[in-house]
Amino acid sequence: MKIRSSEIVVSAINKSQYPSEGMPEIALVGRSNVGKSSIVNALLNRRNFARTSQTPGKTRTINFYLINKEFYFVDLPGYGYAKISKSEKDKWGVIMERYLEAREELCAIFLLVDIRHEPTADDKLMYEWIKHFGYDCTVIATKADKISRGQYQKHISIIRKKLQLEADEKIIPVSSSKKTGVEDLWEHIVAQYNS
Ligand code: GDP
Repeated sequence: MKIRSSEIVVSAINKSQYPSEGMPEIALVGRSNVGKSSIVNALLNRRNFARTSQTPGKTRTINFYLINKEFYFVDLPGYGYAKISKSEKDKWGVIMERYLEAREELCAIFLLVDIRHEPTADDKLMYEWIKHFGYDCTVIATKADKISRGQYQKHISIIRKKLQLEADEKIIPVSSSKKTGVEDLWEHIVAQYNS
C-alpha cells in the first residue's frame, strides 16, 4: 500500500465532532498496551504518528486518521487497564457505544490481541460487542516476533477458540517491530473498505 498522505483530523468525544463527509472508516480496538499505536505507525510507515502509550488507559478519545484522502483509520480507546476507576470504565463504554451504535461509515473493525496470550474476558466481550452491533471483525495477533513462526498456528488456534470466531473471520499475525505481516494486513484493510 502506497501512503501518499496521513493526517490526524480530529480527536473526538462527541458525535458532532466525527467527520461528516461519509468516507469509509476502518476501526482498530484492543487492550491498552496491545500494540495498537505501533501497528498504526507501522502501517503508515511513520515513527511517532499515533502516540505509543506512556500512560495506558488514559486516552479517552476516538482519533480519526485520514489516509490518502480516501478512508479513515479510527483509533478507538483501549480497554482492560487494571488501575482504571469504575467511572472511567463507564466513560469508556459511553464513548464506544456512541460511536459503534449506528456508524454507517464503519466498514469493519480490527480487534487486536497479543499473539502470546489467550484472549482475556475483556477481549471476548469486545468481540461480542462488535458482533452485536453487526460489524465485520478481523483479528490482528500483535507482537508476533515474540514467538517463533512454527508456533503461530498453535497460538492462532487458541485465539480462534477463545473468541469463538466465525469460520470466515481471519487472524493476521503482525509484528510492528519487525514489520512482518504488515502488507498482508494492508490487503485485508483495503478489501474491507472497498467492499
Ligand atoms: P497501545 O497501548 O496498544 O497503543 O500499545 P503500544 O503501541 O504503545 O505498544 C505497547 C508496548 O508494546 C510498547 O512498549 C511497544 O514497544 C511494544 N510493542 C508494540 N508492538 C510490538 C511488536 O510488534 N513487537 C514487540 N516486541 N513489541 C511491541
